[in-house]
Amino acid sequence: MKKKIPMRQCLGCRQMKSKKEMIRVVKTSEGEFSLDVGGRKNGRGAYICPTKECLSQAIKTKGLERSFQCAIPKEVYDQLEKEMNQIEA
Ligand SMILES: [Zn+2]
Repeated sequence: MKKKIPMRQCLGCRQMKSKKEMIRVVKTSEGEFSLDVGGRKNGRGAYICPTKECLSQAIKTKGLERSFQCAIPKEVYDQLEKEMNQIEA
């Protein structure tokens, strides 16, 4: 039996990729944002490729703001940047 791979759209490059290749940004019911690399946290999520290009693109187009329809704390972007630095290092 073939398993269907869930595809998600990146906020940066707008490409569809499998969830596993991406970083998930989650907004909890308490209104807090966190990064979810393992894909296990509950809450509303948005996806982005783990590259600086996609991050800067998402910042430019305000992809996260639009996705969550609210302001995104700077710390969320800082965390994403840190995460991507780690991956690309
Ligand atoms: Zn991307």
